[in-house]
Amino acid sequence: MNNVKSKVALVRCFSYQQEEVEQALAKGLAFLGGFSNIFSAKPPAASSGDAADRSLTRDPEADRAGVMSGEPAGLPRRQITTESRLILKPNLLAKTDPDKACTTHPAVFHAVGKALQEAGYTNLKYGDSPGNPMIRVEKVAEECGIKQAADDLGIPMGDFEHGTQVGFAGRAADHFVLCNEVLAADGIINVCKMKTHQLERITGAMKNTFGCVFGINKGASHARFATAETFAKMIADLNLLVHPILHVMDGVVAMEGNGPQSGTPTPMNVLMLSTDPVALDAVFCHLVNLDPELVPTNVSGMEQGVGTFAEIEVLTEEGRMTPEEVGKKYGNKKFNVQRSKEFRGALKPVRFLKPFLEKKPVVKRKKCVGCGICVRACPVEGKAIEVSGGKAEYDYSKCIKCYCCQEMCPEEAITVKKSLLARIADRRWRL
Ligand code: SF4
Ligand code: SF4
Repeated sequence: MNNVKSKVALVRCFSYQQEEVEQALAKGLAFLGGFSNIFSAKPPAASSGDAADRSLTRDPEADRAGVMSGEPAGLPRRQITTESRLILKPNLLAKTDPDKACTTHPAVFHAVGKALQEAGYTNLKYGDSPGNPMIRVEKVAEECGIKQAADDLGIPMGDFEHGTQVGFAGRAADHFVLCNEVLAADGIINVCKMKTHQLERITGAMKNTFGCVFGINKGASHARFATAETFAKMIADLNLLVHPILHVMDGVVAMEGNGPQSGTPTPMNVLMLSTDPVALDAVFCHLVNLDPELVPTNVSGMEQGVGTFAEIEVLTEEGRMTPEEVGKKYGNKKFNVQRSKEFRGALKPVRFLKPFLEKKPVVKRKKCVGCGICVRACPVEGKAIEVSGGKAEYDYSKCIKCYCCQEMCPEEAITVKKSLLARIADRRWRL
């Protein structure tokens, strides 16, 4: 990264009233110089490199999983014009009511789509690859209110039901199976949600690109990149590959606690925009009193050249601010997010205690309805969770703590439990 500061626009927005959201978005876009200025920004150096680093290949395993091969359509790194084919990529993790703050609110999605159309960018599609590959994206979009918003604007859904394998010489990944729409588009507008995440602490702009990966391949990625750090490196690779041209974060009502699906909605009253997903996620961190350096996707994002969490200028209605000033002025110090340093860095001397400090997913038996969605979500061969006697049960000897089961449980029946020692450590080393 060069020394130019990444810009993040932050606008206050206190409700999902369509008019208020549209006005907030218009201000944020103006702070960044409007779409034409935003879309003229150069992609990160690592992603504008030699196309020889990437090649489309056909994978027999992927074919069996419903993945189609196809002609190389090129990745979205062309000059953006009003003719360009753009995708709106909301967070469509699961079939939930928008009021649960699990998915991008339709009012934000609608405002972004409408603003693009009014600026002349009318060749739009939308979509995402939901967490549960057995559920069609259209059904998820309908339940989340996104389909209705898209229909209202006349924006059709893109092809997120098929994928193509793309080779990529990344830091962690050597290939991705991307949804075909991602390959066909000239640019992605990442309309992400401000939420907590059990593996990566937060899921914001960086992690939302994971929905560009086709269906069941997301589960396989969790198994392949099983730690928070390796998973984050893969996410940074993915961001370099698909590099959305704009990130809009719905932080009007965020999710805290047991995210990304079973947490608690909490108002943060902000809409944020940036071309740098690391900077955007870092400002999210400052708003919730979390050290950006503790978020693995921020660290890998900066190391791998996606963006910066150190050199940021926040553009607000009250002028230019530092992320620290923004955190103090607009943040919520008590936002429920993992702040413990865990046993990296300063805590290395007591690393032998690690097994006693690890958290693990647990089933709340009263809430479990035995649907088996968690079992299907588990990426481990032989499964680390199964339904027995109508209730889900863990085999912790197989569990890699990826939390896909917790992420996908529709009944909020899975929580993440810390040992007493871990809770004490968390309090002791809380920032
Ligand atoms: S834990 Fe959740 S996803 Fe798993 S069987 Fe129970 S209700 Fe279904
Ligand atoms: S049981 Fe849950 S946390 Fe453990 S490996 Fe399977 S999906 Fe991941």
